[in-house]
Amino acid sequence: MYDIHHYADGKIVEGTSGRFGNIFNPSTGEVQGRVALASKAEVEGVIAVAEKAAEAWGRESVVKRARVLQNLVHILYREKDALAEALSREHGKVFSDAQGDVQRGLEVAEFAQGIPHLIKGEYSDNVSTGIDMYSMRKPLGVVAGITPFNFPAMIPLWMSTVAIACGNAFVLKPSERDPSVPMMLAACWKEAGLPDGVFNVVNGDKESVDTLCTDPRIKAVSFVGSTPIAQYVYATGTAHGKRVQAMGGAKNHMIIMPDADLDQVADALIGAAYGSAGERCMAISVAVPVGKAVADKMIEMLKPRVEALKVGHSMDPLAEMGPLVTAEHRAKVKGYIDLAEQEGSKLVVDGRSFQYNMQGFEKGFYMGGSLLDNVKPGMRSYKEEIFGPTLQVLRTESFDEAASLPTIHEYGNGTSIFTRDGDTAREYVNRVEVGMVGVNVPIPVPLAFHSFGGWKNSAFGDMNQHGMEGVRFYTKVKTVTSRWPTGIRSGAEFVIPTLNG
Ligand code: NAD
Repeated sequence: MYDIHHYADGKIVEGTSGRFGNIFNPSTGEVQGRVALASKAEVEGVIAVAEKAAEAWGRESVVKRARVLQNLVHILYREKDALAEALSREHGKVFSDAQGDVQRGLEVAEFAQGIPHLIKGEYSDNVSTGIDMYSMRKPLGVVAGITPFNFPAMIPLWMSTVAIACGNAFVLKPSERDPSVPMMLAACWKEAGLPDGVFNVVNGDKESVDTLCTDPRIKAVSFVGSTPIAQYVYATGTAHGKRVQAMGGAKNHMIIMPDADLDQVADALIGAAYGSAGERCMAISVAVPVGKAVADKMIEMLKPRVEALKVGHSMDPLAEMGPLVTAEHRAKVKGYIDLAEQEGSKLVVDGRSFQYNMQGFEKGFYMGGSLLDNVKPGMRSYKEEIFGPTLQVLRTESFDEAASLPTIHEYGNGTSIFTRDGDTAREYVNRVEVGMVGVNVPIPVPLAFHSFGGWKNSAFGDMNQHGMEGVRFYTKVKTVTSRWPTGIRSGAEFVIPTLNG
């Protein structure tokens, strides 16, 4: 048993609210620790620490800031396996997948090392006689990140590395399900030479989130999680004058054209639908074959592969899929499979009754992969996010019918198309109302130097995560017009300045 507290001003700060949440080991089903849940006053104390640190950090030279990021990158590479092990112990994803979680976050730290180049402003010489004009990007001050359970390394690193490189102080409110990795990241930042108070972690629940979304000292909030909470954070934060980017849930479709290599498609679907037990916002949850022959063949190819999925505890090197994050979440996923059956879907593979019998792990939150055929657009089990190891197959007759589905759907995070035909792929890429699109790539997660973000109910706010969008989100532009005394004509000017040569 262990307790996780908060981190502020370069050290662990004991929680004083008296409120704790349980931390489960999803592989064994046992409570392995407790996480302190901060009170409003505790969160306010952490914000005060960050506000003080933000002043000096915002004035620190950009090269010094870049060097801290360089140090962080080296430390994260060194600590990658330790972070991945802690992550898989609290989240339940298999170790190799946990390594990927750390790696994808680390890559954003690598991107943020380039801050001297990324943050450069623009300069226009002699815009009018003797007048020069330039712009610069200034940090916002104290910014907050509120993160979900499913990527406890990657998402805190998406946000904090860019925010801190831009000169802000950062308050992270991680998921209460897997809080150890964010605390380990705090130690990495400190070792990298980041001044105390610039990176802080406040563990908590709604009380912490509400404080971060309303306190006037927080200038921007970056949120990733489910759509109802994303909407709430967006509405609350913007009503309190903050810049907010809030990423939400997803329902990602893969369109399968008759000319696609169906072996490749089947392999891609197994990884994309069942990897991390489907607890990924970019997981493919709906396969959309075009034509009956493709659909029949897909079901025939997928069924044995789904039945053969190796489910095991998160540190089992042979496991392809670990347990779900909590018993409650597993019950929710099973409930959606019940609903899908009631609504008329055909259950080709039923993962609900899977029992893992390895000694010591019998009470873990496991379930097998499920495969559902004959899914229809009107079904609630299709409209809502399931977020578990379940693939729904929705049969279509034509490309137009298939391509319209992700556009009509309320979510618009990711999608992909598998085809050999360039025209079809290009048409799909241009037409579909979704933020991230893959062509023969099942999970099109943009790399750090591009930006991540969905459309419609998958994201609220105008700017995406990382890439140049991240730099823009965490900075504000100041534009300067300068003229030196020798260029100033005598006499007052009453008209608005225009380009007069
Ligand atoms: P969640 O919405 O339950 O929690 C996210 C954060 O919000 C956590 O820090 C949590 O403490 C906080 N929170 C929870 N309930 C709250 C409430 N009532 N008021 C205020 N704050 C609250 O999400 P989760 O279950 O941790 O993560 C899974 C969800 O995240 C899925 O819907 C998934 O699609 C989504 N997700 C989206 C992306 C993306 O980029 N679009 C990426 C990863 C995960």
